[in-house]
Amino acid sequence: MKKLALHWKIMIAMFLGVVWSIISGTMGMNDFTKDWIDPFGTIFINCLKFIAVPLVLFSIISGVSGLGDPSKLGKIGLKTLGMYLITTVLSISLGLVLVNAFSPGKQTNEATKRTNRLKYEVWANNNSIEIKDGKHLAASMSVEEADKINGLLAADEGSADMKKVMEKSAQAEANRKQGPLQPLVDMVPDNLIVSLGDGKLMLQVIFFALFFGIALTLIPGDNSRLVRNFFEGMNDVFIKMVHIVMKAAPFFVFCLMAGVLARSANSTDELLDIFIRLGKYALVVVAGLMLMLFGFYPMLLRIFGVNIKYRDFFKGLSPAQFLAFSTSSSAATLPVTIECANNNLKIPDKITDFVLPIGATVNMDGTSLYQAVAVIFLAQFHDVDLSLMQQIGIVGTATLASIGAAAVPSAGLIMLMIVLDSVGLNPMWVAIVLPVDRILDMCRTVINVTSDVTVSAIVAKTEKQL
Ligand code: ASP
Repeated sequence: MKKLALHWKIMIAMFLGVVWSIISGTMGMNDFTKDWIDPFGTIFINCLKFIAVPLVLFSIISGVSGLGDPSKLGKIGLKTLGMYLITTVLSISLGLVLVNAFSPGKQTNEATKRTNRLKYEVWANNNSIEIKDGKHLAASMSVEEADKINGLLAADEGSADMKKVMEKSAQAEANRKQGPLQPLVDMVPDNLIVSLGDGKLMLQVIFFALFFGIALTLIPGDNSRLVRNFFEGMNDVFIKMVHIVMKAAPFFVFCLMAGVLARSANSTDELLDIFIRLGKYALVVVAGLMLMLFGFYPMLLRIFGVNIKYRDFFKGLSPAQFLAFSTSSSAATLPVTIECANNNLKIPDKITDFVLPIGATVNMDGTSLYQAVAVIFLAQFHDVDLSLMQQIGIVGTATLASIGAAAVPSAGLIMLMIVLDSVGLNPMWVAIVLPVDRILDMCRTVINVTSDVTVSAIVAKTEKQL
């Protein structure tokens, strides 16, 4: 019998995970799922994460020293960063067009619209934030209405979602206080061991590996050959480890899906309520992501003359895409992304070895599109009109926010607070979109990974390496 391809096995496992979570939810077995199935999902993510950092280190060092000429690296590096920037800006623009066209946040009920707007105005007044769109409903507020709005704001602050957001906001606050050159400073490690030990400091590992690789190419003779062989050998070992882990991927993906769903189990009423409140917003985000996946990337590949049929591209990349969906982390998916790009899509490791690790950390088209949609949705929801200039400003901040977001679950949500803040909106509003954030995180991570591989195929093509 013909063996089933890995992406089919993973897809079936995901489906079974969903089926299991429904069965376990209805039979009251969620605790069993959390105690006995979910931990295997965590083990899987841990395996991928601990492989990711050394793999990035060894693959970049052996990739750069394999290129042999630092100027070649500079050319490829500039091309890569340029492509990443272009795809990010275009994805944000697409998000802005969609959210303005479909207005998922617009309230049709006049009373709700007024209440939401008043909540915004009272918050802005309390925080001395200028209201730029010229409306001032608060001026016509009666004493009873003011009491009601203050009561609603206090209730919001006490809500469970808001508490979760408050925990995250400390991190956003720290990010906000940094100066303009802070991202550059953050790229340079002051202690290599710490950078290697913290999965969130991948850019520092990349910086070190590039520096080390360049220095290695500048040393002639037997010693450098020895070191080069060592790093190539280590790279092979870690790739083998990815192979081994991936053999069991379908089982682990089943556990991940069942666990994620069991942990976020909501009652049917709650689900219906979430869908009514946020369904339109979620659909706009998903529609934007789909357009990127099935329209934008195939078009980009065609424009640059990459001769891979999009069906084959998809088939080759699908194990990484499914993994991105089930782990919500581009960093955890990275080892498999590299593997798919090399083995299935035949993009040479010379290119993928540093285009993909950099992409996993700085290039997040899905995240930036989602941020653009979420900010405008939240503005519409509170009846705040953002000017064209403010919306253009969002392109800049969302680009920076997606570059700064770590490739881990929920990172985009934390950065969303900064984007909201930059246009004078309440960062705590992220609590409103929180209920659907995990599922959107799963979807946007698929796009983040697809974008990285698309750019690496284009760079390889323009370097005549494909
Ligand atoms: N989970 C995303 C990633 O790892 C980042 C985000 O949008 O939260 O790519």
